[in-house]
Amino acid sequence: MKDVKEAMEAFHQRLRDAGLKSTRQRDVIVETFFKIDKHISVDELLVEARKQSPRIGYATVYRTMKLLVEQGLANPRRFDDGQTRYDPEFDKEQHDHLICVDCRRIIEFDDDEVLARLNKIAADHGLKLRRRSVEIYGECQVTDCPHKAN
Ligand SMILES: [Zn+2]
Ligand SMILES: [Zn+2]
Repeated sequence: MKDVKEAMEAFHQRLRDAGLKSTRQRDVIVETFFKIDKHISVDELLVEARKQSPRIGYATVYRTMKLLVEQGLANPRRFDDGQTRYDPEFDKEQHDHLICVDCRRIIEFDDDEVLARLNKIAADHGLKLRRRSVEIYGECQVTDCPHKAN
């Protein structure tokens, strides 16, 4: 994420608007989440946040992510590995994902032609596109992928 400081300010502002207080643990979790800026799960975020603040518990991370989703600062995604992963939604355009079914690599893409097509499909069905989620699952073509089938 480009501007973690700005994202933290937006977070604090939204907490105030909701009449909630920021806590040190919550701040560590949110800041870590914005800094890492990739499709992280609650389990992974817990490991990272504990490097800063070892007493953070799973439930706190879970509730904090739920709060960020409610505030529109995080977008939950489920790619088919059974985990919910979160994308920061602060300064990014919406984007889509490619997922390697072998090594679970997640790549982001944003393609104007795809978007134009989706807008057209939505319009043809009487909808104005608001959110979208395009996921492409593929076999790994990276030669040294350690998880490649055979
Ligand atoms: Zn993403
Ligand atoms: Zn791979």
